[in-house]
This record gives sequence, C-alpha cells and structure tokens, in this order.
Amino acid sequence: MNNLSYLKNVVTLKLDENKCTGCGMCLEVCPHQVFKMNGRRAIIRNRDACMECGACRKNCPAEAIYVESGVGCAAAVINSLLGKNAAACCCGPQTNPEGKNSGVCC
Ligand code: SF4
Ligand code: SF4
Repeated sequence: MNNLSYLKNVVTLKLDENKCTGCGMCLEVCPHQVFKMNGRRAIIRNRDACMECGACRKNCPAEAIYVESGVGCAAAVINSLLGKNAAACCCGPQTNPEGKNSGVCC
C-alpha cells in the first residue's frame, strides 16, 4: 500500500496530542499507518504518507485530528498526472472503454 508517490509537506493533517485520549482508533482506521502510539497518546509517524481520506478525523472521539478531506485522492491524482499506474486510485482502476488508463481518478 505504501508504494505510492507523494509530495512532501503538503498534507493538511494535524494532531493535537493534548486532546488525544489514546484510544488507538486512528491507528485502526488509517490505511497508510500514518500514526503510532507514543506511550498513551497517538503521534504522527509519517505525515507524507497521508492521503487525506479523513477516516482518522471522523473516527477520533476526542476531535484531536484535523485534516482537509473530500478533495480527491491526492496521491492517486498526482500519480496519474505523472503517468504512473492508475490502479493507484483509491477508487480502483480507472480505465476508458478501450480498457486503457483513463488518467482520471474517481
Ligand atoms: S483516535 Fe483520537 S483520541 Fe484516539 S488515539 Fe487517535 S488521536 Fe488519540
Ligand atoms: S486522513 Fe486517512 S490517510 Fe491520512 S492519516 Fe487520516 S486515516 Fe490516515
């Protein structure tokens, strides 16, 4: 899952460690293992791996996470623009009627 390409330092993800109750839900729902536990609190392990899906924010009971989601699968769009595999799209392979890479995500 982590073989996608990302831009550095563009992700909107923020974690307020002071609000975190250590429930571990963000670790469970994140598809890219962005978080890890540091004692009784979550911390961001790899911010650049975040694809801004919003799952962590939606599932954090302490509202400790902020991320701008719903603007598309950033990594998949970037990969598509770079001519890389469209199967990287989080919505699945995107092909045209001829079965070729459509270059469009979702
Ligand atoms: S889901 Fe929220 S409260 Fe739970 S570990 Fe993650 S940041 Fe902390
Ligand atoms: S927005 Fe999605 S990919 Fe990014 S940290 Fe949250 S769950 Fe992981």
